[in-house]
Amino acid sequence: MSDNLFNEFTTRFPADRSRTFLIERDGTERSFAWLLDRTARYASVLADHGVIKGDRVAAQVDKSSDVIALYLACLQLGAIHLPLNTGYTGDEISYFLGDAAPRVFVCRPAHISAAKTLGDQNNVGAVLSLGSNGDGSLNDLAATATPHGNVTDVSKDDIAAILYTSGTTGRSKGAMLTHGNLGSNALTLHKAWGFKPGDTLLHALPLFHTHGLFVAINIMLVNGGKVILLPKFDADDVVERLPNATVMMGVPTFYTRLLAHPKFDKDLVANMRLFVSGSAPLLAETHDQFFERTGHKILERYGMTETCMNTSNPLDGERRPGAVGPTLPGTEARVCDKDGNILPAGEIGVLEVRGPNVFKGYWQMPEKTASEFRKDGFFITGDLATIGDDGYVTIVGRDKDLIISGGFNVYPKEVEEIIGDYDEVEEVAIFGLPHPDFGEAVAGVIVAAKGKTPDAEAIIKRTQDKLAKFKVPKRIWMIDELPRNTMGKVQKAQLRKDYADTFA
Ligand code: ATP
Ligand code: MG
Repeated sequence: MSDNLFNEFTTRFPADRSRTFLIERDGTERSFAWLLDRTARYASVLADHGVIKGDRVAAQVDKSSDVIALYLACLQLGAIHLPLNTGYTGDEISYFLGDAAPRVFVCRPAHISAAKTLGDQNNVGAVLSLGSNGDGSLNDLAATATPHGNVTDVSKDDIAAILYTSGTTGRSKGAMLTHGNLGSNALTLHKAWGFKPGDTLLHALPLFHTHGLFVAINIMLVNGGKVILLPKFDADDVVERLPNATVMMGVPTFYTRLLAHPKFDKDLVANMRLFVSGSAPLLAETHDQFFERTGHKILERYGMTETCMNTSNPLDGERRPGAVGPTLPGTEARVCDKDGNILPAGEIGVLEVRGPNVFKGYWQMPEKTASEFRKDGFFITGDLATIGDDGYVTIVGRDKDLIISGGFNVYPKEVEEIIGDYDEVEEVAIFGLPHPDFGEAVAGVIVAAKGKTPDAEAIIKRTQDKLAKFKVPKRIWMIDELPRNTMGKVQKAQLRKDYADTFA
């Protein structure tokens, strides 16, 4: 029997295919029959364009239910789904097309001529388009195509998708995720988070990232529905639909924006059973405020493009603010020093993980892949963490964001937690800058709380009570907004670049 993830999903679909899988923003309901038909038609069009097992199908398209069918069509053919961030520019797309060498590139209808030029330059077999309103050449061709009948045989170890990392610490890397990786994680999460047939997931995340696609959509494909699909996160839209949902998954900024919404209260979420957060750290303060307002404890989990999800706070049991919970069943984690020596419980080091969820390697980067894996199969995440005696993992920050000032380690999170607690501070980001005496100096940016005008010097002085001298920021700037990418991750590399010459 083939290990195709497509079968993992479809064998779990309800026998009655007329049941609803997805509800569009305008209320249109899409059945499982619709999803399977559209998928088989896309598979047929892709096959007509020469796509066979192992071929990459790249897509930079706006979010819509059709994107889910495109993903499933790739699985059905044993091809490799390769979603690209809609924010990427032409130059970036050119890099990804050159790197991934896809057989087909699917773009937004308005971009077709530029995409064809890029396709020609990068030896892409064909360029098709897909709009978010049923438009585009892929849909035109699908309308008259004969639905593709069979599901290609693959093994668990065959690649189902190449997903580029978010590029927070440098150029995005293509993570090769297998049918086995995605299937095992979907089943694990489905069980861990207690999904049942009656659940309805409110989906406002992008479909080009692991959170929105391989966590949210895969779970709902295993669950047999239902998804309310919104084109993006818009607080008014989300507030309007929360009463019809039972689960929402979001990045931390979703939750801070909901808390700022005047209509967001306990009554609105009476039907909800679970809020999940991930992709970036959820402040303990947000967790607490959310609980006060709604009576719900946000369940924070931790994962990466390369590994899918590794740890999760429990559905039943303590959901600890500021921690990402114990490892998920089947996944192992340990904290090591740079040389791979395992550190005792509670000590800060680099988190390493192993399990059926961990990817096969970086696309076209054998050396990078080799250097990020230990001999015993553990993947070096690049995140600094502690694991307590009780198994709870706490993410301290990224290895690359660690500041070494005068030979001492400064973990930005420790400084951020102290400054973030001040009333006049809405948000803060701490980072290291080159310094002639100290190697690196601690610096930071602050976004003022509404109606407040914090004084940078006064804030620096105030931290001196709580922090050793080498941890006290040497400079703080006020800014209007923290630089974040589409997943709500603070772009510290950008901040380091912007202020690089401060102490030079
Ligand atoms: P790149 O690898 O290209 O620099 P990236 O690491 O941001 O980008 P992703 O794979 O999208 O790309 O993000 C994974 C990272 O997100 C993790 O390594 C971790 O740093 C962070 N992360 C995810 N969930 C959490 C969480 N709950 N708390 C803290 N950090 C988290
Ligand atoms: Mg990363």
